[in-house]
Amino acid sequence: MLSSKQEGILLTTGLNRDRRRILPITEIEHSAFCKTEDELPSKPLVEEFNVNIRWQQIPVEYLHLTADELDIRIGEARAKLGDEVIILGHHYQREEVIKYADLQGDSYLLSKYAASHSQSKYIVFCGVHFMAETARTLCSDSQQVILPNITAGCSMADMAPTEDVLDAWDDLKQILDEDESIVPITYMNSTAEIKALCGRNNGIVCTSSNAAAVMRWAFERGRRILFMPDQHLGRNTGIALGIGLDEMIVWNPFKPLGGHTPEEIRNSKIILWQGHCSVHTRFTVRQINSARERHPGINVIVHPECTMETVQAADINGSTETIIKSINESAPGSKWAVGTEISLVNRLAKNNPDKTIFCLDPVVCPCSTMYRIHPAYLSWVLDRLVEGEVVNEIKVSSETKKYANIALQRMLEVTSASN
Ligand code: SF4
Repeated sequence: MLSSKQEGILLTTGLNRDRRRILPITEIEHSAFCKTEDELPSKPLVEEFNVNIRWQQIPVEYLHLTADELDIRIGEARAKLGDEVIILGHHYQREEVIKYADLQGDSYLLSKYAASHSQSKYIVFCGVHFMAETARTLCSDSQQVILPNITAGCSMADMAPTEDVLDAWDDLKQILDEDESIVPITYMNSTAEIKALCGRNNGIVCTSSNAAAVMRWAFERGRRILFMPDQHLGRNTGIALGIGLDEMIVWNPFKPLGGHTPEEIRNSKIILWQGHCSVHTRFTVRQINSARERHPGINVIVHPECTMETVQAADINGSTETIIKSINESAPGSKWAVGTEISLVNRLAKNNPDKTIFCLDPVVCPCSTMYRIHPAYLSWVLDRLVEGEVVNEIKVSSETKKYANIALQRMLEVTSASN
């Protein structure tokens, strides 16, 4: 039986406009996870509960298990489950979780991998809610997708709740004439329902790797774009395509017409949803200047979810895969200041001992939503599977799945055409 908090998370995937059911992960909760480098390694779950945020309650026996005890339990459960289960780990997962992953990657790669392994009935997704939804959307009906901690949402995805986006879409359709068409694009980091809205309305999904190609595709079909939910990825991509800042507006869902006049909306080329990543917006130009002062000749590489100022001050900006590839393939002795999630930066530093690699932000702030996946949760869901019980299953309605798949399929076609 789910608690009302857990239901709150699950019901963000249900078609309704009841705003009370949304349970956003707030900035305050994110900052609760900021710590020193020494504090980063995992502790028994009961100690991590001291961080004053929402955790999913699980049986008390899991709360006090040490890393070694969890290792034994997870190993035994996996041995019993064999090929029936796949464990997927997003790049931003903590070390103590990623070591159990059969595949490590970004959300789309992991989802495609799960879909191509139809012999595995259970997909345990060590990531966040929208990622598990994407896997659910792509996998066959004979597979079940499990999120080990149901409170592992994503603050960015939560900033575009279905009812707010539906309201905005209705407003935009009323203001814009038929010949002033608008194409909705949603970043992968959004709920299945927002992807479905795009699928239903001649729109598309993008990733941080293909956002430029997807925007070009959209401009061939419409005069303007509604880009959700990350305003920074949308703005940085628009600038890269030569679109002026005066042609982009930010849609504030808390204001009538997003805070704009009908005329401003008609004059815009890109309408950016007012959403952001609480992790990537921490990186600043001041941090970049400081890194360059301390390490002359350093390469600064950041993710395009960072602000425009940070992206423009960096030497390179690119997706998680671009960051990994650039650093792994760089010359021995090279130096890198990196603007992305700390778990990935630390892993890159560990795997490239011949290079100097550090996070731009001197304060260690892991993605708090990813960090909610503790090995104790992984152990619990695997133990339940051994007992024949599926807990924390992520579901997407067949209607939502159908239209979300259409938007994802369009993205695939654009990506293969542009390669
Ligand atoms: S890093 Fe940002 S976008 Fe990614 S899951 Fe965490 S909050 Fe969401």
